[in-house]
Amino acid sequence: MDFALNDEQKLLKEVTREFAEKYIAPVAQESDDIQKLDETVMEKMKEMNYFGTCIPEEYGGAGLHNDTVSFCVVTEEIGRVDASWSVTTGVHCSVVAKPLYRFGTEDQKQQFLIDLAKGNKIGAFCLTEANAGSDAAGVQLKAEKDGDEWILNGSKIFATNGGIAETLLVVAATGEKGSRKELTIFIVDTDTHGYSVGVKEDKLGVRGSNTSELVFQDVRVPEDNILGKQGDGFKLAMQTLDFGRISIAAQCVGLGQAALEASIKYANERVQFGQPIGRFQGIQWMISNMACAIESGRLLTYKAAYLCDQGKEYGYTSSMEKLVASEAAMQAAHDAVQIHGGYGLMKAYPVERYFRDAKMGEIYEGTSEIQRLVIANHLLRKGIQ
Ligand SMILES: Cc1cc2nc3c(=O)[nH]c(=O)nc-3n(C[C@H](O)[C@H](O)[C@H](O)COP(=O)(O)OP(=O)(O)OC[C@H]3O[C@@H](n4cnc5c(N)ncnc54)[C@H](O)[C@@H]3O)c2cc1C
Repeated sequence: MDFALNDEQKLLKEVTREFAEKYIAPVAQESDDIQKLDETVMEKMKEMNYFGTCIPEEYGGAGLHNDTVSFCVVTEEIGRVDASWSVTTGVHCSVVAKPLYRFGTEDQKQQFLIDLAKGNKIGAFCLTEANAGSDAAGVQLKAEKDGDEWILNGSKIFATNGGIAETLLVVAATGEKGSRKELTIFIVDTDTHGYSVGVKEDKLGVRGSNTSELVFQDVRVPEDNILGKQGDGFKLAMQTLDFGRISIAAQCVGLGQAALEASIKYANERVQFGQPIGRFQGIQWMISNMACAIESGRLLTYKAAYLCDQGKEYGYTSSMEKLVASEAAMQAAHDAVQIHGGYGLMKAYPVERYFRDAKMGEIYEGTSEIQRLVIANHLLRKGIQ
């Protein structure tokens, strides 16, 4: 057992940290204020190939498709500076580009994956609907076959990158499978007639990231744009989210780390009762608890990434890591605000933003309750292994 990053991963961590601090950190608060990511940073992210982290070089990616640990390193370091950026690249890489690489045909890779990996086009994964959230099988957006095309009608909500995406993976109902709906994933080019972006959400956290409603009115999609096979949609969506949770967990580890670092700095600087507040046991306990919880989340996150890279079953671990890392980040951000006292509520200190951003990790890509459900179901069905 080896808990250390290899030399390439260490270098990647160093380079990404330097990049994030140099380019993302100075504009992170502004992105949060104006609810928009910085265009200059977007171009620099493309140059760094951060949109192609999980994709082989032959398709325009960074060639780390078998190195999910490196993907975590990148996502954690970006998340340490701005969770809005790490959810933007994380979703693009983990639940759009990666499934296209894993399940797509060669033609689909040529047509869609190369542009995604280079960041020429941004991707969105569209599962959630007004009446289908945790109960993902309840998708109502319908696709009906017409010759060698499918016609999509319905809408999606809360799609990360929705308003800026040009390539979508859309989960649609294509009929019935026994007593259950048959679901299929379609690759949709947003230039297609009948597609439009609806409401752009005004959110509590990760405000720089775009979260939008997407509307499909008689959107015609060629049969060739089915990802995998007709009827495979639910299975592929669940496999996609297993990988996506690694990304969300790494984001939360980065965010928790940022809250911890800000707390240590403040606890050493802020003087009350004639001494730095870090000398008070009440503050020390919060800092210890934060560090332990974040490290637990980090270990589980990198374990899930390791299992994935070894070709082993990692769905159960990815639910655990997402649960632990997101709750660790939330607790860390909460305590960071507490340690900062009144200043913690002010925008002049980044912990105010961390607190709002951290809440998102407990909701998207499956709430904490759903992760607990998945973990318990796994244990009750398969026992402890
Ligand atoms: C910022 C943001 C970005 C997102 N990005 C995307 C995206 O890119 N693509 C996408 O498809 N979706 C996205 N989502 C949607 C997200 O995955 C869902 O919001 C989430 O899965 C929960 O669904 P819901 O909001 O409908 O809540 P609901 O499912 O209505 O849940 C409400 C409450 O009930 C609880 N609950 C539900 N069922 C059970 C159960 N069986 N047992 C116990 N408790 C239960 C939940 O845990 C929650 O506390 C995003 C959401 C947000 C907030």
